[in-house]
Amino acid sequence: MASTTERGYGNEHQKMRAQIKRDVVDPGLGYCWRCGRWIDPAKPWDLGHDDHDRSTYRGPECRPCNRGTRRRDRQERRPPRRWVL
Ligand SMILES: [Zn+2]
Repeated sequence: MASTTERGYGNEHQKMRAQIKRDVVDPGLGYCWRCGRWIDPAKPWDLGHDDHDRSTYRGPECRPCNRGTRRRDRQERRPPRRWVL
């Protein structure tokens, strides 16, 4: 029977993520493999792939790292505005 999970990014990924969630992140043992920050089980996180080998999982990855937004966030942070009255 053909299934919808045969596209390479379905069943395996789901299973792996569920396992890491249960064994690592939920007990509070998860750290982002990129930046080393602790992953809060209450917050969204992703299962990160190796940059060079998309078939290899590196581990839990925090949202800012997974979305590649951390560096941009830092650049966008501006000093508090000074109001001239
Ligand atoms: Zn991170």
